[in-house]
Amino acid sequence: MTEIYDLHCHSTASDGALSPSQLVQRASEHGVTTLALTDHDTLKGLSEAQIMADALGIQLIPGIELSASWEKKCLHIVGLGIDPQHPALIDGIKQQQQIRIDRATKIAEKLAKKRIEGVFEAVCATAGSDMVTRLHFAQYLLQQEYVTSLQDAFDKYLGQGKSAYVSTRWATLEQTVSWITASGGIAVLAHPLRYKLTSSWLKRALTAFKQVGGRGIEVVTGQSSIDDIQRSLQLAKRFDLLASQGSDFHNPDNPWVELGRLAPMPAGIKSVWKADPLAATLN
Ligand code: AMP
Ligand code: MN
Ligand code: MN
Ligand code: MN
Repeated sequence: MTEIYDLHCHSTASDGALSPSQLVQRASEHGVTTLALTDHDTLKGLSEAQIMADALGIQLIPGIELSASWEKKCLHIVGLGIDPQHPALIDGIKQQQQIRIDRATKIAEKLAKKRIEGVFEAVCATAGSDMVTRLHFAQYLLQQEYVTSLQDAFDKYLGQGKSAYVSTRWATLEQTVSWITASGGIAVLAHPLRYKLTSSWLKRALTAFKQVGGRGIEVVTGQSSIDDIQRSLQLAKRFDLLASQGSDFHNPDNPWVELGRLAPMPAGIKSVWKADPLAATLN
């Protein structure tokens, strides 16, 4: 049987459309043999996902995607093979959750100034006890017809520098990587080409990431072009990082991204799933 690894995706525990069990089911239907659930700043979906993974015989890697501040920029750090019971990780996540709630309040205040009222209550109602993300805001704006698409919501209101953008101080790169590492996981820089960093800034970021113990980088994502993969591969080689791959699946309605649908990983680079401590937990 061919092994298919998808090490980055989201459930309703953060901004995904499918419940953890629906997500695992869909991954299995699309041939995924090893899946990492990596919700934004939460571990909440993992236990439900594990039950379905056991039932369907697919391997689940406990994961997370942490937002990290570095040089006033926000980087996304995926943790793979973390221990969801680890106190340092749990405490860290609590801080991130408070930051998300504070930020959501401020985003709603900015939208209220644009005569878009009651958004905080609305997004909290949809997110429930799950993580509130900007995608929840975008979905609300779309549903209420303030915008014509999710992209439009980011372009008009939520994107960096737009009228309802709130610059946020997340945990530091050092903190996020240390929580992941302390809990037995491998820290991976998610989607390196999506930060709109110049090549020299990206290299600085990777230097900093390595310095604090980062070990991997996503080389193949659900939306990578051949060119993107080559660029990310060169970065992986230059910084001696393990290569990861993941779709970053959020929603079955997006035809461009599907669970397990990834371009092949180029040869000549070590994959993150072949490195310990992660490899030791897989069969
Ligand atoms: P947050 O972590 O709360 O800042 O939310 C970021 C999330 O918003 C990302 O993980 C994506 O799921 C989503 N997102 C960001 N930019 C866009 C976009 N242009 N269109 C649709 N979704 C987006
Ligand atoms: Mn997201
Ligand atoms: Mn991300
Ligand atoms: Mn993601």
